[in-house]
Amino acid sequence: MSNNGSESGAPLIAPDSRTKAGTGAKWTPSGVVVPIYCAQCAKPGGFVPEENMTFVCWLCDDCYHTHGDVFGGTVIPDEVFWAELKAAQEARYGRELTADELRVQLDDPNSLISTLARSRADMTPPPSQ
Ligand SMILES: [Zn+2]
Repeated sequence: MSNNGSESGAPLIAPDSRTKAGTGAKWTPSGVVVPIYCAQCAKPGGFVPEENMTFVCWLCDDCYHTHGDVFGGTVIPDEVFWAELKAAQEARYGRELTADELRVQLDDPNSLISTLARSRADMTPPPSQ
């Protein structure tokens, strides 16, 4: 049961925040989304698109402040996020959207782009002090 202990000091492989079985996946007008959970305490963290997401590791605010250092180099870098966003647009629309088109997409809370943007906001840790 307690095999993901980070207290032991054993090297950690950053866990994926999605469930292995994809349980909790649901349909939205912009595609299937799957729930993510805090990699440390398993608190629910919202949903990310199922397609075009190769890896998600999310920490809730509390755990980021308590354990953020443990995950030091494993927080998803901006370049990876923007590459995923670009890939998602190309997969969905065949090209990158224009700024105007992005605005329309972001006005729709259920659009793929909105979902991605929210997933990014969720993953962005607050500035450390
Ligand atoms: Zn947590």
